[in-house]
Amino acid sequence: MRIAVLSDIHSNLVALDAVLAAAGAVDRVWQLGDVVGYGPDPDGVVDRLREVGAVGVRGNHDAAAVGRIDVDWFNADARRAIEWTRGHVRPDTRTWLADLPEIVVEAPFALVHGSFRDPVWEYVTQSSAARASLVHLTDLGARSGLFGHTHLPSLFRADGDGLEVDRPADGATVTLDDRPALMNPGSVGQPRDGIPEAAWLLLDTTARTVTWHRIAYDIAATQARMRAVGLPERLAARLDFGL
Ligand code: ZN
Repeated sequence: MRIAVLSDIHSNLVALDAVLAAAGAVDRVWQLGDVVGYGPDPDGVVDRLREVGAVGVRGNHDAAAVGRIDVDWFNADARRAIEWTRGHVRPDTRTWLADLPEIVVEAPFALVHGSFRDPVWEYVTQSSAARASLVHLTDLGARSGLFGHTHLPSLFRADGDGLEVDRPADGATVTLDDRPALMNPGSVGQPRDGIPEAAWLLLDTTARTVTWHRIAYDIAATQARMRAVGLPERLAARLDFGL
C-alpha cells in the first residue's frame, strides 16, 4: 500500500494540490494536523482532504480554530490568522476539524501532531523529546510514529542505546525495520527549513520504505489570496523563504 503523509497544510490549498498531484495514485492520504491556520483557504483544504478520504489528527491550530484552545497561546500573527479562520470557515468545516482525534493508531503506524507524550503541543526537535516520544509510541503498540508540528523534515530512530537523527533531503529513502522510529514529513503549507517547496512523504508499506519529497508550487498565488483576504503580510512574505 502506498500512503501519502502530509502535515501542517495550514490552509494552503495551492500547495496541497501540488502535493496531491505529485503523489499521484495513492491508496491513502494521512494528515498530521494543522490543517488550518496561517493560510487563506481553510474550507478548500478541508474539502480536498474529505474528497481524498484523508485520515488524520488534530493540530494546535485546528484546536484553536474551533475554540478548544485559547488564542493567547499563539503569537500575534498566528492569533490573527486563527481569528480570521474562526470567522470564515463553514459550519461543516468546523465540525470536521472539531472531530479530529489527537492520535490515530494503525499498527505498526501511529499518527500525531506534536509528540506521543504530549499530542497537540510538544515540539520534537531534540533527542530527549524524541526518546520520550518513542517510549509512548511503543506503549501504543506501534513502531513507526508519524508526527508534524515542527515543520522540519526529520527522522529519529532508536539505535541500540543511541538515537539515529537525520534531516532527510528531497528524495531521501529509509527502509523501516524493527527499530522504533519517528518521522516528520515537514510542512506542506509553510515549510521552515529554508526551502520554500512543499514537503511531504510517501510511505510504501509493501517495500517498507519511507521517502521524503519536495515539490514547487505557485507561492505567489497563495500570497495573493492571503493579501486579498487581509491575512498578516509577514505570513505571506515568509513563504518565499521557507522560514
Ligand atoms: Zn503547524
